Amino acid sequence: GPPLACPPDVEELGRSSWTLLHSITASYPISPTLTEQSQVRQFMGLFSKLYPCWVCAEDFQDFMAKNRVRAESREEFGQWMCEAHNDVNRKLGKKEFDCSKWEERWRTGWKDGRCD
Ligand code: FAD
Repeated sequence: GPPLACPPDVEELGRSSWTLLHSITASYPISPTLTEQSQVRQFMGLFSKLYPCWVCAEDFQDFMAKNRVRAESREEFGQWMCEAHNDVNRKLGKKEFDCSKWEERWRTGWKDGRCD
């Protein structure tokens, strides 16, 4: 049969969740309609309530209360998500990510062709 997998721990859950979240910003329209903007705000609000790591969810809700979701464009939403992720990076003592590179990491691939 297939190899046995274990339930995700906080790290694996985090990596796959960030992959999903940044990928959503990457596929977000350059010029979203008001409906699309409102859907993304609803999604992030519900995501922060349902995220299945309760301490993580609580801190993320605090972050969102102080930093309202910016979803007026793909660029704004991508930057906002990068800042949200950096807030967690700082908390965990991880290196901050250069947010000018979010689109290369999550949408276009690196300019030097590393993802080809
Ligand atoms: P990750 O932080 O998972 O990052 C994955 C990849 O994303 C990196 O390799 C890098 O290429 C890229 N990346 C890194 N930073 C950025 C950025 N700012 N913008 C764009 N791309 C970036 N863990 C806890 O222990 N405590 C918590 O309170 C906690 N809160 C979390 C809250 C949320 C909403 C999420 C989604 C996760 C949370 N996590 C938390 C998990 C934590 O953020 C990491 O996912 C986990 O520690 C694994 O880290 P990692 O080093 O593999 O890389």
